[in-house]
Amino acid sequence: MTTYKEYHARSLRDPTGFWADQARLIDWHQPFSQVLDYSTPPFAKWFVGGTTNLAHNAIDRHLATRGDQPALIYVSTETGEEKTYTFRQLYREVNRVAGMLKGLGVTRGNRVLIYMPMIAEATFAMLACARIGAIHSVVFGGFAAVSLATRIDDAQPTVIVSADAGSRAGKPVPYKLLLDEAIELAKFPPSKVLLVDRKLAEMKRVPGRDVDYATLRAQHMNDEVPCEWLESSEPSYILYTSGTTGTPKGVQRDTGGYAVALAASMRDIFCCEAGDTFFSTSDIGWVVGHSYIVYAPLIVGATTVMYEGVPVRPDGGIWWSIVEKYKVNVMFSSPTAIRVLKKHDPALLRKYDLASLRLLFLAGEPLDEPTARWISDGIGKPVIDNYWQTETGWPILGISRGIQALPSKFGSPGVPAAGYSVKIFDEATGAELTQPHRKGVVAIEGPLPPGCMTTVWGDDDRYVRTYWTSVPSKHVYSTFDWGIRDEDGYFFILGRTDDVINVAGHRLGTREIEESLSSHPNVAEVAVVGVADALKGQVAMAFAILKDATKADTLEKKLAHEGEMMKVVDSQLGAVARPARVHFVSVLPKTRSGKLLRRSIQALAEGREPGDLTTIEDPSALQQIKDAIHA
Ligand code: AMP
Repeated sequence: MTTYKEYHARSLRDPTGFWADQARLIDWHQPFSQVLDYSTPPFAKWFVGGTTNLAHNAIDRHLATRGDQPALIYVSTETGEEKTYTFRQLYREVNRVAGMLKGLGVTRGNRVLIYMPMIAEATFAMLACARIGAIHSVVFGGFAAVSLATRIDDAQPTVIVSADAGSRAGKPVPYKLLLDEAIELAKFPPSKVLLVDRKLAEMKRVPGRDVDYATLRAQHMNDEVPCEWLESSEPSYILYTSGTTGTPKGVQRDTGGYAVALAASMRDIFCCEAGDTFFSTSDIGWVVGHSYIVYAPLIVGATTVMYEGVPVRPDGGIWWSIVEKYKVNVMFSSPTAIRVLKKHDPALLRKYDLASLRLLFLAGEPLDEPTARWISDGIGKPVIDNYWQTETGWPILGISRGIQALPSKFGSPGVPAAGYSVKIFDEATGAELTQPHRKGVVAIEGPLPPGCMTTVWGDDDRYVRTYWTSVPSKHVYSTFDWGIRDEDGYFFILGRTDDVINVAGHRLGTREIEESLSSHPNVAEVAVVGVADALKGQVAMAFAILKDATKADTLEKKLAHEGEMMKVVDSQLGAVARPARVHFVSVLPKTRSGKLLRRSIQALAEGREPGDLTTIEDPSALQQIKDAIHA
């Protein structure tokens, strides 16, 4: 039996042999001629010349053996809908939507933006794009008009697929309304908008542009649309994520490498195989939803559960009732969701029969020990942390139980997954820190393994500049996370090195929020930082200098102004980016050269010492931050 150490070592020593073996996990239409082309680093091309298709691997190849097995189980506690689609039924629906999209003029390489709530049609649309070689760009429903418009203009979709509304805790959340606003703002509006009418909200239609999903579906009932065979490196999708600058980056994913990496991760890390049922509580708008609601479970022939609703409605037992009813084997969620459950009756964890459940994976943000213990003891199952990013598409760090049952360590997401050469670098000198317990930047030595981002959509230069030059060592990808490694090779993640914050597992750029707040007519300057929060991990906190401070010179006026500014963020970026508090100050702490001392603001907001202040221009600015927080 191979130890995990040997397995991982081989993946780095002999990447071509290792990944050629993994490539057998999926179907290829035409075999590849070269496993890896790394002739123009940091751009890595995996499985060169091989042609394949994600929808074929997720659906078609299972039809002969598991056509009647459930592929997608859809549960909505918002509408009460519950529906199971077998692989054959999923095949039919995806062919219909593929036919619909083609009919609307979408061809291979075109972009299709999907702005949808958690409904089965969103999954059909993603897989239909994959089928016809269109590149999907799913935008999380929590994003509002300005965020959406930025993404429309960057991806320039031919078609947008959307719906009248989503629903959260029983309240309709408008989609179409925000979409219309976004299209109005966009410089590159789509030619057609395909709309699912859930009858949750009124929907105005733009003649000639807006098309009704149900009506069009009826015209494509019997469509059979052959899969487009894509070269392995052809893009499958774009997924936007936040970074240091205000403009989100379109993470571009390939096709063949992604399918192979997901299949390998299901075997090695998630221990999930054909016939199993996998339940990821994420949203399709995030990377976890792309990889572990839609593609990975289906690629390996497992059943995937898609859930619309909050974790505590009708009560905190809803997920466990789903586990019991559908005999879920593997679950994937986030620490924040578990902290939400923690506020509810722990007896709910024992109310349902969880015999089918083997493992619960948590990711997206640091997992604190009390939360890990509470849920592990509560459901009596192993709880496994794993660490990755939108950019990588699948875990960088984890415990590959499928290879060897390594023990977990509290506070650590684990050891590098196969294919990842993870190292720690000194931020100032760029030197690798080889000794254990030294804090530095977590970085990955190139080439990135299959499945990771291949570039920033439309901007190769930005890809190189952003990820491959911030650690001054050649061919090293920066994760922008601080970390340490212990003597056993386990990594501990200690927060971001950049201006990205993580609110309830959602990644947000503080610059985006600052830009949005700055558009309020009375804001002269604003700083947004992430502040530790017991429930959400972090929340955004804003400190603003007003042009006319008299507009907030009483408590009442302050609160009104704060509310107004939150509304600006709500309407532009979405409630997901709304700061928890907006404080008003007359000066912000800056260096003499005018750089905002964000880390000091954050430290003060968290009740810590502000750190090195030798370069501060006006020390009274710190007192103002302290006073504002304690006011
Ligand atoms: P996203 O791209 O939205 O998945 O966010 C990625 C970021 O979330 C990482 O760079 C980390 O800062 C954080 N993150 C993800 N998973 C973990 C984890 N298991 N432990 C600590 N931080 C995590």
